[in-house]
Amino acid sequence: MKASEIRAKWLKFFESKGHTIEPSAPLVPHNDPSLLWINAGMAPLKPYFDGRVVPENPRIANSQKCIRTNDIENVGKTRRHHTFFEMLGNFSIGEYFKEEAITWAWEFLTSPDWIGFDPNRLSVTVYPEDTEAFELWTKKIGLPEERIYKLQENFWDIGEGPCGPCTEIFYDRGDKYGDLSDPECWPGGENERFLEVWNLVFSQFNHNKDGSYTPLPNKNIDTGAGLERFASILQDVDSNFDTDLFQPIIQKTAQLAGVTYKQNEEYDVALKVIADHIRTVAFSVGDGVLPSNEGRGYVIRRLLRRAVRYGKVLGMDKSFLYTLTPIVGEVMGVYYPEVVEKREFIEKIIRIEEERFHETLSDGLAILAEMVEKARNEGSTVISGPDAFKLYDTYGFPFDLTEDFAAEKGMTVDRAGFDQAMQEQRDRAREARKETDSMKVQGGPLADLTVKSEFVGYTDLVTAAKVI
Ligand code: ATP
Ligand code: MG
Ligand code: MG
Ligand code: MG
Repeated sequence: MKASEIRAKWLKFFESKGHTIEPSAPLVPHNDPSLLWINAGMAPLKPYFDGRVVPENPRIANSQKCIRTNDIENVGKTRRHHTFFEMLGNFSIGEYFKEEAITWAWEFLTSPDWIGFDPNRLSVTVYPEDTEAFELWTKKIGLPEERIYKLQENFWDIGEGPCGPCTEIFYDRGDKYGDLSDPECWPGGENERFLEVWNLVFSQFNHNKDGSYTPLPNKNIDTGAGLERFASILQDVDSNFDTDLFQPIIQKTAQLAGVTYKQNEEYDVALKVIADHIRTVAFSVGDGVLPSNEGRGYVIRRLLRRAVRYGKVLGMDKSFLYTLTPIVGEVMGVYYPEVVEKREFIEKIIRIEEERFHETLSDGLAILAEMVEKARNEGSTVISGPDAFKLYDTYGFPFDLTEDFAAEKGMTVDRAGFDQAMQEQRDRAREARKETDSMKVQGGPLADLTVKSEFVGYTDLVTAAKVI
């Protein structure tokens, strides 16, 4: 089943259950300074959940484009994580609750009319105190107790505001993916034999200012399922990257680089990371985020640079990312016409940014050559920590890249000095953050201006560059 069919089935199924389909909102949150990116299907619907806006129909379903940069370290390593992905969701704003949510989830997953998973392969997790959910799974659905795992962390709570227990559905991918005697293979473990496909959140409490919890008068349902994960199961492939959502991009990149996918582990990671990042960058640019040195623009700049570096792993020394834009459009245009309509613009922005980065790289190399020269003149064979940090901070050179280039000149780099310079910068950033947080306490319009970057890719950039 093609991914576009799965998406269409989702929407059709929930439409048949009386839901109104909301189109995907842009990746940039509207009127929500607490979020850098839309990171879940529920995020653009917050005004309904907190009562600011009353929806015409309390039943809503969507397929929402999402960005989660906190998963960046996982991309290319796990079978299931992306920085950009689609979350399929169904929502009840103070109307239906656990029984309908669970019953419909089961129907959609197991009925041959919909996606028809083998029911014997499904397991769920519940919050230990949520006996209601446990009983629905056992009595209403007939799921054997041994396939229900009670997990303390199944409680969705982000501080003050609505919160509640959740139940998550896992698909057992079989022996090929892990041995059941290993607890890491069980739902919630590190192994991906049991693939988490769907999270059903029951927001039934209010987390009060004083830390207490009181029942909400209007209970809500908020669910999210990963389209790419459904596709990997339904297409019977190893990972999300082997589905029709990613393969055209991966194959095109492999062709450009003259390599073959699935022949070399290191190349495969690079191909996956590039395919992931180009989707994130193309969609963000399409939604009006331009590469820059702060906030969202900075996230996009770092992702693009990261993709360029992984390109180097494949031996790509010239700009190529922008040529993948049309493929992203071909794959995603059915549901997200913006990537097709804005293709030329997206392509141009990516191309300019990519070319500029190649220049930055060569500028950095020139500076490095001067540093080597300076060290030599001083009778040293070591590039100093502060110098290596300047290359990192100003030219985007990760430590290992500097180290590799230095090694070519018979030099080493002062790691401890680099780490210290990095630490000093972190301390400075922390001080700066404290100031912003104190601004928040003061409230007022200034507080709304502070959008914290959640980009966490630095350490991985260093790892990524090791092989460059
Ligand atoms: P995981 O444990 O696999 O990281 P999660 O528990 O963080 O997932 P949720 O916040 O529950 O994910 O999101 C709901 C659903 O969205 C998940 O069940 C999964 O199908 C999908 N999903 C979440 N994060 C990602 C991601 N980074 N890439 C692809 N799909 C994702
Ligand atoms: Mg996660
Ligand atoms: Mg999870
Ligand atoms: Mg989850």
